Amino acid sequence: QISKLPKLSESIFSTMSALANQYDAINLSQGFPNFKTSEKLQQLVTEAMQNGHNQYAPMRGDLELREVIAHKIYKSHQTQYNPLTEITITAGATEALFNAITAFVHQNDEVIIFKPAFDSYEPVVELNGGVPVFIQLNYPDYKINWDEVASKINSKTKMMIVNTPLNPTGTLFTNNDMLALQNLIKNTNIIVLSDEVYEHMTYDGLLHESACKYPTLKEHSFVIASFGKTFHNTGWKIGYTAAPKHLMDEFIKVHEFNVFSINTPYQKAFATYIQDENNYNYLNQFYQDKRNLFLDGIKNSKFTFTPTKGTYFQLLKYDTITQENDVDFAKRLVKEFRIATIPISVFNTNQLDEKVLRFCFAKTDETIKKATEILCQIH
Ligand code: PMP
Ligand code: GLN
Repeated sequence: QISKLPKLSESIFSTMSALANQYDAINLSQGFPNFKTSEKLQQLVTEAMQNGHNQYAPMRGDLELREVIAHKIYKSHQTQYNPLTEITITAGATEALFNAITAFVHQNDEVIIFKPAFDSYEPVVELNGGVPVFIQLNYPDYKINWDEVASKINSKTKMMIVNTPLNPTGTLFTNNDMLALQNLIKNTNIIVLSDEVYEHMTYDGLLHESACKYPTLKEHSFVIASFGKTFHNTGWKIGYTAAPKHLMDEFIKVHEFNVFSINTPYQKAFATYIQDENNYNYLNQFYQDKRNLFLDGIKNSKFTFTPTKGTYFQLLKYDTITQENDVDFAKRLVKEFRIATIPISVFNTNQLDEKVLRFCFAKTDETIKKATEILCQIH
């Protein structure tokens, strides 16, 4: 066996974005904004370069940036992380997930993953010889049954990966979910990867519940964040991870020999930019308005939906339009209607086909309007 990941082929994100380009389609598939990142932030990057910040950053990240992040977390969740030892700047959330899984998962260790799930979790677990154990959540509310989770925990369970707000369903873990999770892992050695990259996108007055707010859970958790998602620059590939020292000490061993450190001028820029909370506290409203514009635009279409509670994704069910499977329908939408989306079966166990597509609404209002006009024409 030469391949370590024999089941994998091209990711759905690459496939759909390539198809969107080929057919000159509106691309609501891969999750990235089509509007500009802040001018001020771009200016700060340029200034950092001009001021000579162009050599290797410290391995864990620029210290000022780590201090600013520790302060931001304290303001949001009233909990302290030591910026010297408990925060690391990473090449996006993707690197953080890779490091945390690689640092802890040994051959045959079990890792609980909720499905549908972001596509990077499972391959990294398998690359490390771990065994993914799936828990399927189902349309329309994708609620977690914690008794089912409890039934999957055994002496081989090394890790649990949670994602709130959840890509692609928009599910938000509630206070009760977090307490149930905390209750399950207390008195165990289970490590929790809490993927919180959509922390600044929650709607209708609902709040993001971070794992770091719950003291026992925090002791077991890596909290993973992405500046690309928060600050509209997914191509810059920067994020960070916060975790108690005993976990971070192992995480950085992988980080050090994976990338060593993250690009310096961007870190300098974020260190200044994130100090002003006005640069992120508008985001819930900003994306809620976009979600509402999208939903208002499709209210007379044949698609059905439950408004998403978080993330910049909306799921639409299309079983009143066609019985095609979601991959075929998504491909036909690009070719015939010039709209690219993500079929969510690719995030599910056994490719469960719920006739649901994922739409990214991190787009200009003009793009959203154009897209919804087209969606209303599909019968
Ligand atoms: N986790 C989730 C749930 C995501 O949707 C994404 C997609 N960007 C990532 C992690 C990866 O984030 P990054 O681009 O910062 O690597
Ligand atoms: N997180 C993004 C999404 O869910 C895509 C990231 C990627 O392309 N790997 O669409």
